[in-house]
Amino acid sequence: MKNIKKIIIGTNNKGKYREIASLLPKKIVKYSPENFKIKSPREDGKTFEKNSYLKAKFFSKKTKLICISDDSGLLINALNGKPGIHSARWGGKSKNFNYAIKKVFREMSKKDKYWKKSKAHFICSLTIYYPDGKYITKIGKVNGHIINHKRGKKGFGYDPIFVPKNYSKTFGEMNFNKKKSIDHRYRAFLKIKKYLY
Ligand code: IMP
Repeated sequence: MKNIKKIIIGTNNKGKYREIASLLPKKIVKYSPENFKIKSPREDGKTFEKNSYLKAKFFSKKTKLICISDDSGLLINALNGKPGIHSARWGGKSKNFNYAIKKVFREMSKKDKYWKKSKAHFICSLTIYYPDGKYITKIGKVNGHIINHKRGKKGFGYDPIFVPKNYSKTFGEMNFNKKKSIDHRYRAFLKIKKYLY
């Protein structure tokens, strides 16, 4: 079903909304859950795939529109993959990213007081859910490392501490177009694109 006219981007996260909206074909009319005053559902899946699926289904059912949703997170090797699917939760109730980053620093320092950097990757699962119940889910990944201090004020979430492989800037230092052309969301999008264009 390529001739999509309207879509809801199933996220209340402004950073994600901006990235996904800019990847979608210009001619598609884009809605956010805010337009319908809908809060996000509880994400109780155990995997990124399950959570992007449940969000896409939820928003599609509520609005009767096709929905594209993402579930994503940062996995740090030294922390055995944490924060992982709990990446948003590490920001506390108010989803404060400064708080989440402080928690990363705290947890890393518990492992090694003198740590400077650590291998990590971002994962994104994207689901397109159609009102008739069909859906597609694809995963994207970007490898890199985290550093022990924040650099850059752009982006959102863990962007200021993540340096993608083969780059020296953090996502927080990169301009929007650069980041969105190499990140986990884009890599998942490449696999799902043919259903939209
Ligand atoms: P959720 O998918 O709503 O559970 O939230 C995922 C969380 O992972 C976000 O709130 C961010 O903290 C983090 N995250 C996901 N993608 C990115 C990204 O591209 N940059 C920085 N942080 C991200």
